[in-house]
Amino acid sequence: MQFKTIIDPFRIKSVEPVQFTTREERAAALERVHYNLFGLQSQEVLIDMLTDSGTGAMSKQQWAGMMLGDESYAGSTSYQKFEDTVKSITGFKHVIPTHQGRAAERILFSNIAGKGDVVPSNNHFDTTRANIEFMGAEARDLVIDEGRQPQLIHPFKGNMDPAKLRQTIREVGAENIPIVMLTITNNSGGGQPVSMANIREISGICREAGIPFFLDACRFAENAWFIKTREEGYAHKTPGEIAYEMFSYADGCTMSAKKDGLANIGGFIALNDDHLAVECRNLLILTEGFPTYGGMAGYDMEAVAQGLCEALDPHYLQYRERTVAYLAEKVTAAGIPIVQPPGGHALFIDAKALLPHIPAQQYPAQALTIALYLEGGIRSVEIGSVMFGKVHDDGSETPAAMELVRLAFPRRVYTQSHIDYVAEALEHISEVRDRLRGVKITWQPPFLRHFTAQFAPL
Ligand SMILES: *Cc1c(COP(=O)(O)O)cnc(C)c1O
Repeated sequence: MQFKTIIDPFRIKSVEPVQFTTREERAAALERVHYNLFGLQSQEVLIDMLTDSGTGAMSKQQWAGMMLGDESYAGSTSYQKFEDTVKSITGFKHVIPTHQGRAAERILFSNIAGKGDVVPSNNHFDTTRANIEFMGAEARDLVIDEGRQPQLIHPFKGNMDPAKLRQTIREVGAENIPIVMLTITNNSGGGQPVSMANIREISGICREAGIPFFLDACRFAENAWFIKTREEGYAHKTPGEIAYEMFSYADGCTMSAKKDGLANIGGFIALNDDHLAVECRNLLILTEGFPTYGGMAGYDMEAVAQGLCEALDPHYLQYRERTVAYLAEKVTAAGIPIVQPPGGHALFIDAKALLPHIPAQQYPAQALTIALYLEGGIRSVEIGSVMFGKVHDDGSETPAAMELVRLAFPRRVYTQSHIDYVAEALEHISEVRDRLRGVKITWQPPFLRHFTAQFAPL
């Protein structure tokens, strides 16, 4: 008998108490942090869905690996294990360890990108974009049109539009495109996957034009799972086999081990080009560390090597996808509009549709994050006009295209009762939605304002 309940593929060995607060305490905390949830202290939060980055729970094998960590400066056994694992998963020739994803990006783009260059992607993640722009190059998003429509259901909304890529190559010339990237899964686009067919096609276009092709591989295991369950011809392959095929079409990748590395810190660049590997290692020594540890301790490399393998376990991936889908079903049944289909690592609530009485100038998604914290002690993040609105010189603003609230799922951290609680809090807010009010900004910094801006309720 195959039972249909998908259970957590682990039991719990060590627990971390959650911190309960009263509504009055949360109201006071909100006032103190000027209604910006980035200012809260972790003990003021009951369920923290701010990010899935570095917030996962490690397994007993990972903790055992921490004790095996070899802290030799050069040639440690922990590096050998790390290197062997990354090579066996990706097939790439060179493995360069960094302290997290953005360090990998910084080293790669410092070597290949410059003024006048264009780096296409489906959607660049914000640190990737910032590192490209810091080198004077342009980061260009070429996701398919379906990827920009929140309610539209499509199995691979993270795909890049091949026609837009060919057009970009014609327009700027292959010699001005140092690499083409694909972000798997497409984080900025809602955690949406990229199909194998699309990876193959984009790779083919790049090979034809002589442009190297890289993956931003942060959620490679979640992407492999979506290919297995949604793309014809992959149902009988293991996530590991699918991941290996994905990487086989690329010349290299950047990785944040804080995502599908199931670790709290770490990252790497992996690539085939011997010359570029030498250049990257030279810069690595300057800014991160010696090539056999880069930005990590020996014990970090042990935890990442083990975590990369655990992330490819089909029971883990099925549980992971199911957790997000479970919350999506509950809130959809309660009439709360979300980005469809739900992504691999997060649920995105469409605050513009939920709170039509709050205009974009009064930041409906920020108002929703505040209500969710006040009512339930749940921390989420605004992805709307606070984060992406364009502020003009005269102080006026062009709002973002979408007003979203992201609930990210830390890996292996919360159980079904936590998720039921989140659903209940959202249902309550939906019932009293007419009473929610917008906010105004009372202070803001010149850039990346969402981290430190101050608000007041209207
Ligand atoms: C998190 C992330 C990065 C950056 O990694 P950090 O470890 O946070 O520096 C890059 N790309 C994507 C898609 C990410 O999700």
